[in-house]
Amino acid sequence: MVAEVIINTTAKKLNRTFDYNIPKELEQLICIGSKVLVPFGKSERLEEAHIVKIKENSDFEIKNIVKVETGLTDKQIELANWIAKRYFCNISECIKLMQTPGTKSKDVSKRIQDKKINVVYLKKDFEEINFDIETKKIKSEKQIKILNFVKDNEGATITEIETFTDCSRTIIKTLIKNNYLELIERKIERNPLDNKKIKNTQNLQLTEEQTNAFNKIAETINKNTYEQFLLYGVTGSGKTEVYLQLIDKVIKEEKSAIILVPEISLTPQMLDRFISRFGKEEIAVLHSKLSIGERHDEWERIKQEKAKIVIGARSAIFAPIKNLGIIIIDEEHDSSYKSEASPKYNAKEVAKKISKEMKIPLVLGSATPDISTFYNSNNGKITLLKLTKRANKSNLPKVEIVDLKQELANGNRSMLSFDLYNSIEQNLKDKLQTILFLNRRGYSTFIMCRNCGYTVKCKNCNISMTYHSYENKLKCHYCGYEEKIVKNCPECGSDKIRYFGTGTQKLEQEIQKQFPQAKTIRMDVDTVTKKNSHEEILNKFKNENIDILIGTQMVVKGHHFPKVTLVGVIAADSSLNIDDYRATERTFQILTQVAGRAGRENLPGKVIIQSYNPENFSIQDAQKQNYEQFYEKEILLRKQLKYPPFCDIIIIGFNSINEEEIKKVSKLTYEYIKNGLENEEFKIFKPMPSPIDKIQNRFRWRIIIKGNMTEKANIIFNEMLKKMYDRDIKNTKITVDVNPNSMA
Ligand code: ADP
Ligand code: ZN
Ligand code: ZN
Repeated sequence: MVAEVIINTTAKKLNRTFDYNIPKELEQLICIGSKVLVPFGKSERLEEAHIVKIKENSDFEIKNIVKVETGLTDKQIELANWIAKRYFCNISECIKLMQTPGTKSKDVSKRIQDKKINVVYLKKDFEEINFDIETKKIKSEKQIKILNFVKDNEGATITEIETFTDCSRTIIKTLIKNNYLELIERKIERNPLDNKKIKNTQNLQLTEEQTNAFNKIAETINKNTYEQFLLYGVTGSGKTEVYLQLIDKVIKEEKSAIILVPEISLTPQMLDRFISRFGKEEIAVLHSKLSIGERHDEWERIKQEKAKIVIGARSAIFAPIKNLGIIIIDEEHDSSYKSEASPKYNAKEVAKKISKEMKIPLVLGSATPDISTFYNSNNGKITLLKLTKRANKSNLPKVEIVDLKQELANGNRSMLSFDLYNSIEQNLKDKLQTILFLNRRGYSTFIMCRNCGYTVKCKNCNISMTYHSYENKLKCHYCGYEEKIVKNCPECGSDKIRYFGTGTQKLEQEIQKQFPQAKTIRMDVDTVTKKNSHEEILNKFKNENIDILIGTQMVVKGHHFPKVTLVGVIAADSSLNIDDYRATERTFQILTQVAGRAGRENLPGKVIIQSYNPENFSIQDAQKQNYEQFYEKEILLRKQLKYPPFCDIIIIGFNSINEEEIKKVSKLTYEYIKNGLENEEFKIFKPMPSPIDKIQNRFRWRIIIKGNMTEKANIIFNEMLKKMYDRDIKNTKITVDVNPNSMA
């Protein structure tokens, strides 16, 4: 392999490319854009250069590239290699995860003086943009480059985009004009923690159970050994306090810590507790809402060992932290730790790899552990530490189940059961707060003709359109495609088009109708915009006398509102009816988490779960808030049906604009894999269209494979990918995903 490089110099006559040979051992590390050292000129002095192109041969007699400067340590490169193999992706993609985001932006000093700046966000869904690129609606390479950059760096300034993409301002402006990008005015918070004012707190006196957990983990820190722990305790049992004290110990020993949380912007209160204990200086925060400048600064503070505690979402596991003493993963069951985009890594597995390497403890915490994690804590692979009581002595809330079938039989067709209605009314009288949870956004989730049965689907995806009443439009939740509402059936022309299903918008309107005196606020993907953060909505709910918070999944994360005494689950069935072996697990987790929001201090809490399947064990056990009872039933089912943790599920996914090609490629892949895995214990299912068989005008097929992923199988899958891509398959993408979040 040969690289064309540009020498890093201002000398005009060197403003062209030079060919260099890429030595075998560096091949895997090099990608377009890599900084390398090359011998140059008569003196053979090493010069810095950047790779701009990689090709097979050169017409010249050429020298070797001497060194790649990724700015990464050998250990990091090794980890990148491991991730690439394990998750079937390119090494360069993994290296990107570990590199400092961006470089120091030019306008830093200006930004600090300004109170407000304009930042750039994607206006359309990236999937939709991709589609426009494929259909050549966007032709220009520079536009594509900018869009790709903004995708990874939402919140960058125009100057930053100019610097990093080397494209001119006018192209950015064109993309804004054409509605691909939008410019948003933002207050600057260079250090994301700067404007937080928080009182200091001290270590609390630990309870007996907390002390036991703390001591067990502290012992491994003292001995400098790897061990994986599961800190299993109901919400409010004091897990966070244990984390805080462990980190305190690690810091006192001049080591550092990483704590992963599902999505930090969803849990501002968690961050506050860390700041109150350790101060802002010690903490670096990494999450998706930071601008590229902010991320760069945080990354640098970590590198320079100014910040010794890293708190962040999934990718914070790659923070360039030195002298690591502990890794903690809070809410370890959360699906966000597994990346669904390439590299499709699982941060828990990466954390385990790093902890082993560093000989430090890995602490997983949850009130509703992942079934596989709990299974491993029963068979000795993970050390189980239990917290069985709430630390501040508040009681767990009372949970009631309402049978919606019964409710219908009693003539109640509204979204609120009599019980829930009465409880909301009482709460309003008592000036207490209520949270209502419904896992679907929009107004009506599905539109059908009563006359001929026609349902309105997205023209790009095989998926029902959702009606959004505030915009008075139909929207596809997969690709963002929008359409005017339909009054007559496009198929038979009748006016019997009806809107079914309930989303958060409809719930909000119904609540406003039934309780006109109540102040409500809604939190879902449609209200949490770039301007309006989760934190603002939650702060409003807390501080502005709002009675009812209505929302999707977002409302169930670890918030702590002392005045919330009632939580209503409008339809517990929505997560049960998905076609996935984790449907009951997810339902149990969500219901337990929602329930945990009620009555967190001295006021008693009440939870009402409405369901059409009240007899389902995930709902029954959630009512009792009995994880272990749930686990016993679920693990038996998993064993009988042979699902994780008793085997891995590997999905080879295909997507293509060409239906013929996708059939051909998936069939070839199937033959190849069947041969390759012949002597291994795998069950390989024939290629089939995926449950959602078209998204964004791309056909989707898949092969499901069940078995235990081994080193050998891993090699076979990697070879398969290489073989398939060596063929001429222009229009089809192939992915391999082990235990993916979604089976759709
Ligand atoms: P979890 O992380 O398990 O939800 P937290 O650590 O948030 O639990 O604890 C719940 C509440 O109990 C918090 O208000 C916390 O300050 C308090 N708390 C935790 N540990 C103790 C303790 N040992 N003594 C008194 N209060 C405690
Ligand atoms: Zn669509
Ligand atoms: Zn019709």
